[in-house]
Amino acid sequence: MKSLKEQIEWASGKGVAIGHFNVSDSEGFNAVVSAATELGVPVIIGVSEKERSFLGVAEIRALVTAEQGKGLPVYLNADHTYSVEASKEAVDNHFDSVIIDGAEKPFFENVMMTKEVVNYAKEKYPDILVEGELGFIGTGSMMRDEIPDGVSLETQTTAKDAKSFVDETCVDLFAPSVGNIHGLVKGGEPKLNIKRIKEIAKAVSVPLVLHGASGNTDEEVAAAIDAGILIVHINTELRLAYKKGIKKGMSSDEAAPYKFMAEGVEEMKKLATQKLRVFNKMQ
Ligand SMILES: [Zn+2]
Repeated sequence: MKSLKEQIEWASGKGVAIGHFNVSDSEGFNAVVSAATELGVPVIIGVSEKERSFLGVAEIRALVTAEQGKGLPVYLNADHTYSVEASKEAVDNHFDSVIIDGAEKPFFENVMMTKEVVNYAKEKYPDILVEGELGFIGTGSMMRDEIPDGVSLETQTTAKDAKSFVDETCVDLFAPSVGNIHGLVKGGEPKLNIKRIKEIAKAVSVPLVLHGASGNTDEEVAAAIDAGILIVHINTELRLAYKKGIKKGMSSDEAAPYKFMAEGVEEMKKLATQKLRVFNKMQ
């Protein structure tokens, strides 16, 4: 089986992006994996710190290892990890990638903590990819009335800052702030800054990751991929689909969890399939 690094190189050669979907439980995990397996495309399972504590670090690692054992290109990412300690825990559990998120910290502090995780990972498991972030894009996957404070054109990552961050930290993957926002904005999402993505892709030599792509149109995301994005994160939309399905399941008299939960899995799988088609340029 290809490593995540090789899989990203494959995506780059093909001009497509790998889908990254967050899950909170085994149902969500099954929904995402079956969507990717049916389409025959690689997929990254993301678990944030809170999702990890709900699901269990060893438990999610075991679920992904079982799929990898079948030869399926399913990878595990420790999504937004705000402390060096929690990042090290993900490294110790041999996740395929880890995101150390110091985006809210001053530049120098962000560089220092990111560097520490890069060094730790390289020493322990050199195949683990470490992702760094620069430029605030908000936290949480809620419905927002408006664009969160601290996110604006001025706070978007510049190509120059991106280059010095990547050079100084030696990260394997880089997540910029380019008009993307975590969560969904009721009045409509701001547009992705495609021009800025192109500039950053030209300035740095590592793959770029687009966070908070929920709510952006398929056309925008496709343009972002053409501009140099190689991994696209979806969480909020997936959670909403899951919730909608479970609500439907709960409204019947059914008492068996595997029956009323199945509706949630179905909705989530439908959405993951739709997104994966866009990211992989399938008709
Ligand atoms: Zn994110």
